[in-house]
Amino acid sequence: MGKVNRDEILSILDEYNKDEITIATLGSHTSLHILKGAKEEGFRTAVVCEKGREVPYKRFNVADDYIMVDKFKDIVNEEVQEELKSMNSIVVPHGSFVAYAGLDRVENDFNVPMFGNRDILRWEAERDLERKLLVESGIRIPQKYNDPSDIDRTVMVKFPGARGGRGYFVASSTDEYHEKINSMLKRNWIEEEDVELAHIEEYVSGCNYCIHYFYSALKDEVEVMGMDSRFESNIDGLCRIPAKDQLDIGMDPSYVITGNHPVVMRESLLPQVFDIGDNLVECAKKLVSPGMNGPFCLQTLVNDDLEVIVFEMSARIDGGTNTFMHASAYSYLLFGEFMSMGRRISREIKTGVSEDNLDVIIT
Ligand code: AMP
Repeated sequence: MGKVNRDEILSILDEYNKDEITIATLGSHTSLHILKGAKEEGFRTAVVCEKGREVPYKRFNVADDYIMVDKFKDIVNEEVQEELKSMNSIVVPHGSFVAYAGLDRVENDFNVPMFGNRDILRWEAERDLERKLLVESGIRIPQKYNDPSDIDRTVMVKFPGARGGRGYFVASSTDEYHEKINSMLKRNWIEEEDVELAHIEEYVSGCNYCIHYFYSALKDEVEVMGMDSRFESNIDGLCRIPAKDQLDIGMDPSYVITGNHPVVMRESLLPQVFDIGDNLVECAKKLVSPGMNGPFCLQTLVNDDLEVIVFEMSARIDGGTNTFMHASAYSYLLFGEFMSMGRRISREIKTGVSEDNLDVIIT
C-alpha cells in the first residue's frame, strides 16, 4: 500500500465542477464553524456524521447534506469517499478526522481532495518530528532530558498517547521521578515498556496562550487569527484550594482539556508571536513541502521573562478556534468583519477557485 498520489488527487480535482464545490468535514471538533464559514463564503456544505450525533448540525443548521455513517472512522470507506467526490467535495481535516480516520488511512487510502498539506499531519502526531520542526525553526521549546538522572529542575513527564490525561506528572528531582514512575507502575497506569518512552521536559511556569495562525499559501502570508487558553481538569480545580488542602487530598494532577476561553496577549509580545509563526512557516516549506498551508496552532506558555515557549503544535485547525466562531480580537483587526478560522479556510478556497490555482492549496 503506497501513499495517495498527488497527481491522482489533482486529476480528481480537475474533474470537479468548480462552480459546485462542497465543503465537507467530519461532524465533530470544529465542524460547526468550518461549515458555517463555508456557507458564509457561498459554498454548499456536507457533514459526515456518526448516527445519533446529528443534532448540533441540524439545530444550528450548518449542513446542506448529511452522509450518515455507523462509526466516524467510516469516513474513509470507499462508498463514503465516492459520495464525497460525486458532490465535488473538498474535505477540511481537523483533529477528530485524523484521530478517527487514522493517519495511515488518510495518507494511503483517502483520495478525496483535502484542504492543506496532508503530509504535515504526521509531523504533529510524532513527537520527534514535531520537535525537529520546532527546533529547526529556531523556536524556544522546553528543554528535553534524555536521562532521568540529569533532572536538575522541575520537569513535566509525558507518556505517548496520554495527551494531558492521567499519565502526565511533575517531578523536581531524579528520586521523585523514580518514586512517581514506580507508583504509576503499581497502579497499572503504565507498563514497564512505557517507561522507556517517557518524555521528560522542563516544566515551564507560565501562562497558557494557544495561538491560532493561518498561512495563506496563495498570498504567502502568515496571519494571526486568534488566541485561546484552556480549562483543564483536574489541575484547575486543584489550584483553587489552599496548598495545605492540596497536600491533604494527595490528588494526582491531570491536564484534560474541558473547555477553552478567548484571550489576548500583552501587545509587546506580538512581535515574538509573528516571528515564531513566520519562522515555522519558512522551515516547514523546506522540511515538509509545500509547508504549513492553512490553519495551525502553537500551544505556548509565557514565563516571567516574557519568553513565548512552545510546548505543542497542531498542524491543522485546532479545537481552540471554537472560541471565535464569529471573530476574535485579532481576526477583526485583520479583516474588519466576522472571520472565524472556518470562514478563513473557505475564503482561501474561494480565492483558489476564482484565480484557478486550487492545486496550490489542495492535497
Ligand atoms: P499537552 O497534552 O502537551 O497539550 O499538555 C497538556 C497541558 O499540560 C498543557 O495545556 C499545559 O497546561 C501542561 N503542560 C504541557 N507541557 C508543559 C510544560 N513543559 N510545562 C508546563 N506545563 C505543561
